[in-house]
Amino acid sequence: MVGLDGATFDLIKPWVKEGSLPNLARIMEQGSYGNLMSVIPPLTTPAWASFITGKNPGKHGVFDFAERIDGSYDIRWVTSLSRRGRSLWKIISSHGGEIGVINIPNNYPLEDVNGFMVAWMDAPDSKNFTYPPKLADQIKDEIGDYIITILDWKENEDLSRFRENLHRMIENRTKTILYLMENKPWDFFAVLFSATDIVQHCFWSFMDPSHPEYNPDEAMRFGNTIKEVYRHIDTVLGKIESKLDENTTLVLMSDHGAGPLRGVVHLNKWFEEEGLLKFKKESPIGFNKKGSIASFFGRRIIRGCLSFLKKHLSQDMRSSLKKAFPGMRDKVEGILFSSLFDWTKTRAYSLGSYGNIYINLKGREPDGIVEPGAEYEELRNKIIARLLELKDPATGKQVVKKVYRREEIYHGEFLSKAADLVVVWSDEGYHSVQRFGSKEDSVFSNRLNLHLTNIRYTGHHRLNGIFAIKGRGVKQGIEIDGASIIDLAPTILYVLGLPVPNDMDGRVLKEVFDTEHIQRKPVRFEETDDESDKRLMHDVYTETESDEIAKRLKSLGYIE
Ligand SMILES: [Zn+2]
Repeated sequence: MVGLDGATFDLIKPWVKEGSLPNLARIMEQGSYGNLMSVIPPLTTPAWASFITGKNPGKHGVFDFAERIDGSYDIRWVTSLSRRGRSLWKIISSHGGEIGVINIPNNYPLEDVNGFMVAWMDAPDSKNFTYPPKLADQIKDEIGDYIITILDWKENEDLSRFRENLHRMIENRTKTILYLMENKPWDFFAVLFSATDIVQHCFWSFMDPSHPEYNPDEAMRFGNTIKEVYRHIDTVLGKIESKLDENTTLVLMSDHGAGPLRGVVHLNKWFEEEGLLKFKKESPIGFNKKGSIASFFGRRIIRGCLSFLKKHLSQDMRSSLKKAFPGMRDKVEGILFSSLFDWTKTRAYSLGSYGNIYINLKGREPDGIVEPGAEYEELRNKIIARLLELKDPATGKQVVKKVYRREEIYHGEFLSKAADLVVVWSDEGYHSVQRFGSKEDSVFSNRLNLHLTNIRYTGHHRLNGIFAIKGRGVKQGIEIDGASIIDLAPTILYVLGLPVPNDMDGRVLKEVFDTEHIQRKPVRFEETDDESDKRLMHDVYTETESDEIAKRLKSLGYIE
């Protein structure tokens, strides 16, 4: 399985048509393909948790990059320990299958499996990022340093360097996987290429004349950057395919799609204007509790001091301070999320990276003020109605397409961990991020710069990702409709000849296989062994490592 992070048929189809992606064209011609529905909201971490388990987020409990800590307003980064339900890798391992899994999100800490794994960028540099740990040395000996992600965002401000770094990362990963594919035994091999997602976030406006930030000069220089990354990946696909025998099935997928980002909505500012939230003037000094957000976003600091620094230090001054004191940035920006608000006067708030809304509920939140039952429902109804009326001042158009009550999109034992309301933006062209260091100053901003850089964030995720499959028994040249990311685990198990656990929400995508193939090889099911998911929740990251993860998420625009 090859994951092309954030890949979309909106780009692939026209580029296939003009002949720019010959390998993708051939795979689509000789196999079946179609859109792949992500989870709502289409965020990397919950989407991959759904891929890994074949379950909706209500069953695996991962809804965002961060999760709230029960009984507090604190949050912590989601890790693979936050995910419940057996992983695809464990299921394959339990049947004796050997796996190789490279760069899949929400997979760190790595489980012990029958096979080998290399973690995604949620593994801090300071920790083992491979299973077994000695695999890291082997990769280093054979390939050289493995690039988890391209991290130097100051260097990436030079967009030509950024472009080179993206291709360097693709080359590095390609060498690694070709080496592993040839030198290790495997029944199931999966790799994710992240460059497609990163380039779409940062280079979209250069190729899209309808984008509010489009500029013809920049388009001349960087308009082809996204296409060049797709072309590079296409070449890699050719190399991967040449290593496969006729008994091997190839699956391509993306965990979500991509499209232009039109604007940023600061929901907490909107809540303030609606009289539903109150920002605090000063926040209290406190000490950090291990595992709380304090250990992720730096230490608690007196807010007054923060605003003083932010107001009185020039950008230059701040960057030179940052160089002198590497931890400074997080200290200046990092403030406990919960200390931003006066909870006794806050009825609803937003937290997370897309548009997740929580009600300050009595009995659940420590200082909850909204009564469960009728008051909670009325408030949710009111917020939905008001959000649907919200207009973008730049265009006069409706900003919110739909607001889901959590029970409309999730089901399962972790439903209570989900946001109370989940926003889907019009044309999926907006983004909502929280500023942890200061209160939002206006509801709308048309620009989001990657943290402390001049890199503009002009593309964002879409609900439709891609799916393609080619191999024995697979129909040729068929476009299918209605596939979902939760269907991939059952479909992969089917291809491997293994039974599908009966608690998976996804289904085997039977429509892509010939009828006689399905008759000869019917789908089998097995009882789920819940007992086998016994990993214990514990703090995964040290303070420094949490800062490192925060930096990586900031560099992708997922938090600000
Ligand atoms: Zn992304």
